[in-house]
Amino acid sequence: MSKIQAIRGMNDILPTETPTWQYVEQVTQALVQSYGYREIRFPVLEQSQLFKRSIGEVTDIVEKEMYSFADRNGDELSLRPEGTAGCVRAAEQHGLLYNQQQRLWYRGPMFRHERPQKGRYRQFHQVGIESFGMAGPDIDAEIILISVALWRELGLSKNVRLEINNIGTAADRRAFGAALTAFLQQHEADLDEDSQRRLLSNPLRVLDSKVPATQALLVNAPSLVEYVSPETVAHYDQLKKLLRANDVDFVENPRLVRGLDYYNNMVFEWITDELGAQGTVCAGGRYDSLVSQLGGRGTPAVGLAFGMERLVLLLETIGQVPDSVNQVLDVYLLASDAAVADQVLKLAEELRARLPDVRLMSHCGGGKFNSQLKKAYNSGARVAVIVDTPPDTGEQTVRVRQLDEEGSSEAVTLQNLDAALLKALAQTSAPA
Ligand code: ATP
Ligand code: MG
Repeated sequence: MSKIQAIRGMNDILPTETPTWQYVEQVTQALVQSYGYREIRFPVLEQSQLFKRSIGEVTDIVEKEMYSFADRNGDELSLRPEGTAGCVRAAEQHGLLYNQQQRLWYRGPMFRHERPQKGRYRQFHQVGIESFGMAGPDIDAEIILISVALWRELGLSKNVRLEINNIGTAADRRAFGAALTAFLQQHEADLDEDSQRRLLSNPLRVLDSKVPATQALLVNAPSLVEYVSPETVAHYDQLKKLLRANDVDFVENPRLVRGLDYYNNMVFEWITDELGAQGTVCAGGRYDSLVSQLGGRGTPAVGLAFGMERLVLLLETIGQVPDSVNQVLDVYLLASDAAVADQVLKLAEELRARLPDVRLMSHCGGGKFNSQLKKAYNSGARVAVIVDTPPDTGEQTVRVRQLDEEGSSEAVTLQNLDAALLKALAQTSAPA
């Protein structure tokens, strides 16, 4: 019978890869918590309407990328293609946005039916952070500073660059959209098919096109900068001032519009040159109308999301994962003789209770001593503890053995085991 394979574009993350994932997850969790952000969890499945109303009907995501289906009741549902919409839905539903400020974060899988390639998958993972109830550029700067701190923590600061833009208000964009449509209509025949279709329905999407010929045409297009209203410019200028005051380098990209409709005013992307076409590792911006668009009271908001796969790829590409991350086991416990094999499980439990920081695997499944020792070497542990047959008279002893080429070992009494074990672990090239 043929074996069933995973769905294209949906990845298994194997035990050899999870340490790097966990490392990024731990760093991000500690970081966002250090800024006072609290985790929120919401379902991967929502009413399709939620995404249509927030991300926008005429966007790549809603038009072509959502996994949508009618469930057994006939309800129209979609797997979430991103987190902001569900986060707003959940926060609003539970009254978290009523007269309150909130700093929230989440992480988890997102689903988009895109063409799978390196850094672009159909199930991928994002970490998102969202702030609600604060209208000023200070919170925009805070959101960006969190990403700056993340690059610093992960050793990626030299590999990413920040692009920002002011996309104005919805009304600004409508005025600009009309001018853009007029310009693009003169070149309609040279546009790609998607852009031709969007010419009237959502002309700004054309700016976001990834088709080179379309991008080339846009060089002479009218610029959004000429249409953004003075309030948004003042906000944006203030943000730039705050970024400079905090030594954050950035480039202004007047063509940056983002692929989702809910953004306004300031938007940004972090881009790397190391991952080819999938160079955007993190993106975000302000979205002051989304809460009211989804039926809540007008609530200013700003947030970002970064893609875990691209971060992990970037870390692997430039070799910034600390060695300690892949060291996941310290001690392998085994018996030199079947007669004492029963003691192994119990001693392992006792050691774990007394030395909770030591990661310890006990041998199961029997076998000859040499094959057990081989498993100890292959386990990745640095030290083995070998339970010996007790002599007819005298105390039970165990051996503490370095799992290196030399394999030097020391016999100790059970009473002295903890100290000897900690010493042996300290002697090995213990990663931090
Ligand atoms: P792109 O322009 O690369 O398609 P996007 O603008 O669609 O990205 P967002 O919706 O802003 O991306 O999502 C935020 C981040 O999530 C991206 O910067 C990227 O790191 C990651 N991401 C988005 N789509 C995918 C995907 N299909 N596979 C892996 N990561 C993704
Ligand atoms: Mg996309």
